[in-house]
Amino acid sequence: MFGPLIVKPAKSKGSKTGSWRVKLRPEFLKKNCIGCKLCISVCPEACIQGKDKETIKINYEYCKGCGLCSVICPKSDILMLEEESKGDKK
Ligand code: SF4
Ligand code: SF4
Repeated sequence: MFGPLIVKPAKSKGSKTGSWRVKLRPEFLKKNCIGCKLCISVCPEACIQGKDKETIKINYEYCKGCGLCSVICPKSDILMLEEESKGDKK
């Protein structure tokens, strides 16, 4: 008999997503950003870094595509785009 399957949850910083990220990925428009850093604060993977619209960037190796950064942005400066419609900026 097999017992219950227990799957250990992955740790944030230790989990590269690589190609399995959900099919949406965030793109910074870099138009209306005010540098509030809410996107940085809310990202569960801590994969956004920077200080202002010129320097903020996402490490797509760790991004899960959850969309929280896009939802929280007060200036609607982060769009969630389908993977196929972006230019890969890894
Ligand atoms: S989509 Fe989610 S994981 Fe990716 S950068 Fe935004 S908040 Fe972080
Ligand atoms: S949440 Fe939006 S306005 Fe604030 S730093 Fe991030 S991109 Fe800029």
